[in-house]
Amino acid sequence: MYDENNIFAKILRKEIPCDKVYEDEFSLFFNDINPQAKIHVLGIPKFPCTTFSNFLKKADNENITSFFKSVHNVIIKLKIEESGYRLITNSGVDGGQEVPHFHIHILAGEKIGSLR
Ligand code: 5GP
Repeated sequence: MYDENNIFAKILRKEIPCDKVYEDEFSLFFNDINPQAKIHVLGIPKFPCTTFSNFLKKADNENITSFFKSVHNVIIKLKIEESGYRLITNSGVDGGQEVPHFHIHILAGEKIGSLR
C-alpha cells in the first residue's frame, strides 16, 4: 500500500521544498538532504510506487523507460559518466529503505567506499 504522506510524495506535491537537479514529465531528481558523498542525488518517478519491484510491476513501459533514461541524463548533466558513480536503490526492511517511495541514489564526486 502506497503511503500518500511519505516525504517524497510531499516533495512531488510541492508541500515540501527540494533542491532540484532535474525534472521532466515522469521524474524528479534532487539533492539528498543528508549527503553521503560529494554528489548525492535522489531520483524518483512521479508515479506512486513503493519499491523498485513495485515500480516495475505497476508503471507502463513508457514511464519505466523514461525514468531510467532520465537517470542517465542526470549522470551526463552532473559530468560523472567518465569519473564514475554508484547507483543504489534500497528496498524494504532488509534493504534498509527509509522512505517508502521508490528512489535511486546517485553517489559520485569522490571514491565511494566499499559496500562491506
Ligand atoms: P532510503 O534509506 O529510503 O534509501 O533513503 C532515503 C534518503 O532520503 C536518505 O538518504 C535521506 O537522507 C533522504 N531524505 C529524507 N528526507 C529527505 C528530505 O526531506 N529531503 C531530501 N532532499 N532528502 C531526504
